[in-house]
Amino acid sequence: MKILVTGGAGYIGSHFVKILNDKNINVVVLDNLSRGHREAVPQNVTLEVVDLLDYEKLNVTLKNYNFDAVVHFAAFAYVGESVENPVLYYQNNVVGSFNLLKACVENNIKKFVFSSTCSLYGNPETVPISESQKTNPINPYAQTKLIIENMLSDFDKAYGLKYVVLRYFNAAGDDFTGSIGESHEPEPHLIPIVINTALGSREKVLIFGNDYKTKDGTCVRDYIHINDLGDAHLRALEYLNKNGESDIFNLGTGDGYSVNEIIETAEKITNLKIKKEIAPRREGDPATLVADNQKAKTKLGWTPKHNLEEIISSAYNWHKNKRF
Ligand code: UDP
Repeated sequence: MKILVTGGAGYIGSHFVKILNDKNINVVVLDNLSRGHREAVPQNVTLEVVDLLDYEKLNVTLKNYNFDAVVHFAAFAYVGESVENPVLYYQNNVVGSFNLLKACVENNIKKFVFSSTCSLYGNPETVPISESQKTNPINPYAQTKLIIENMLSDFDKAYGLKYVVLRYFNAAGDDFTGSIGESHEPEPHLIPIVINTALGSREKVLIFGNDYKTKDGTCVRDYIHINDLGDAHLRALEYLNKNGESDIFNLGTGDGYSVNEIIETAEKITNLKIKKEIAPRREGDPATLVADNQKAKTKLGWTPKHNLEEIISSAYNWHKNKRF
């Protein structure tokens, strides 16, 4: 099996590449390195520095390798940035994914795993959220992901491209070896912000709102360890190899934690005091996002293995000695 991983130098992609590489599965990374890190790609894995917007170069790369499947992570993923600059998001995410899918058709690649998001449910009607819940994207980032999901469905009908869409809840934590991890600039995500505050590189954590209808007034999210996400991608490939039909799966643990609980758990694990301050709500934040993960469990045979303590301790381990 020869796999192409786009965005394999990014946070989620690089963890998946490490899982494949550790299992001696043949993998090639394609990344434009605009936001990814060369150091996140193992030295024995080929890195093709290609931009998905450069169709000719992309097509030639796919022709050169004869891939069995594509796992597509490459995307911009900052909600706030997408609101301010939709051009960037529609161009990079939608046009880039379109080019990739077109190149798959041209090169007869029929298996595709796509990195999607729970944010396309918008403000969910009920929680936990199952895949049958109505999609209602409330920002351009989520819109781009939904457009690509719809494109996949059309490509299956017309060209027989079989796909698995994985809608992630909150990807968090880092590889337990400390060799790779999350490194965003700027860093918008709660757990690295909390850890960096504990380590003294940030002054305080701003808690975006404490008047939500949740257990303690702060937002509740379903944090899923990055290697559990990686494991689901591997199972998605196995599912497609067994001729599974195109399908969509939510990936979360099914457990929700509030912002306050994250800070408390991090204080316990690091044994450090974390300064916090209540700030106004962040626009577009639903009160609670928790996955119903039954479908992934049943059809992909996937069960998340890592709990919140492991998520936070692996993040602490990485951020203490960050390599890039
Ligand atoms: N959050 C916060 N302060 C921060 C960053 C995030 O209170 O500095 C909250 C945010 O409102 C959300 C949760 O933490 O409820 C997780 O946010 P993150 O940006 O990590 O992921 P998202 O849920 O937006 O994908």
